[in-house]
Amino acid sequence: MTARSHGKRWTHLELKVVFNLYCRTPFGKLHKSNPSIMDVARRLGRTPSAVAMKLVNFASLDPIQQARNIKGLANVSKADREIWVEFSSDWERAVFESQEALLYQSDSVDGGHAEIKTVDEVQETERETVGRVRLVQRFFREAVLASYDYQCAVCRLDIPELLNAGHIVPWSKDVNRRADPTNGIAMCVLHDRAFDRGFITIDSRGHIVLSERAKRPTDSLLQKTGLLQIDGQPITTPTRFQPDPAALEYHREFIFLK
Ligand SMILES: [Zn+2]
Repeated sequence: MTARSHGKRWTHLELKVVFNLYCRTPFGKLHKSNPSIMDVARRLGRTPSAVAMKLVNFASLDPIQQARNIKGLANVSKADREIWVEFSSDWERAVFESQEALLYQSDSVDGGHAEIKTVDEVQETERETVGRVRLVQRFFREAVLASYDYQCAVCRLDIPELLNAGHIVPWSKDVNRRADPTNGIAMCVLHDRAFDRGFITIDSRGHIVLSERAKRPTDSLLQKTGLLQIDGQPITTPTRFQPDPAALEYHREFIFLK
């Protein structure tokens, strides 16, 4: 551990990069031996311990963690609090700026799933060609899936390749919310599509409501277990980024098939 890591003041962009990492890292992996944290630390010229401490500071400011009575740390700075406010008030801009700064990050925080490109691919092709949309989409997916520990919120299927980070308010309807993880829910491909097409929605208590359109006798095992039996069941509570009640209300009103 060097004196440098303790003495050097965190720049605003560094804090945004670490907050971006915070959003995409499952809670159980917020520790200094996580390769993604070590990688970001190396890029910032800081120790993994210093980055991990900053991540824990951000966790202590997380509304969901505060609701669980996890006490804030004494060394949380005003600047740390301001980063939370900055992201929450304009996810799109803050995510883009921090994602761009992270382009050289080599590994994905979830352990390297198939669609995440390696550093060489990112450097050689994507840096020039990937636009704002791709960067924001990548963040949204990782932040939402991490928030649900890479499980479908409806059925708990946990194969990352079969999971989507679905928007509650479709991004075609509200561009400003396309990067906002509180406008997302992790779902498997079946439930993501069913939610997207309005066959299921979520009530104000966090329980699944199945559309009458999907309630019909069937011989399909998947239809029985995947749709008929989930009616009225609670969705999983995420470790951060609770679904926004206003977004869910929009979904019930305008997407759900009544
Ligand atoms: Zn599912």
